[in-house]
Amino acid sequence: MKGLFWKREKKPKYVTSINELLIFYTQCATCGELFRTVIRKNSELSQNFESENTYEVQKELIGSYCPNRIHVHLWLNQGLKLLKQTVTGGKLLTEEEYTRLKEEKNQ
Ligand SMILES: [Zn+2]
Repeated sequence: MKGLFWKREKKPKYVTSINELLIFYTQCATCGELFRTVIRKNSELSQNFESENTYEVQKELIGSYCPNRIHVHLWLNQGLKLLKQTVTGGKLLTEEEYTRLKEEKNQ
């Protein structure tokens, strides 16, 4: 059933899971500062018992270039795929977007 793989819808991937870590990328809406945030699954992921079998992560990011605070709230399913996101003060980036923006800034 090789065809199924290719037909799969390509959604932007905002959360990367590597062993015990979850990594996501964010950009400040005010100054454009880039953030790479690492979450420890065993201590920073909380299980959501209201909506069954989902996980939540909440993180507040404060940059070094402006006083804006970025509040990230993510909901993940059991396979740690992103179900829903609420981000104020900034936006999520894919790893590719983050890498590209980082390179542009360094030029
Ligand atoms: Zn900022």
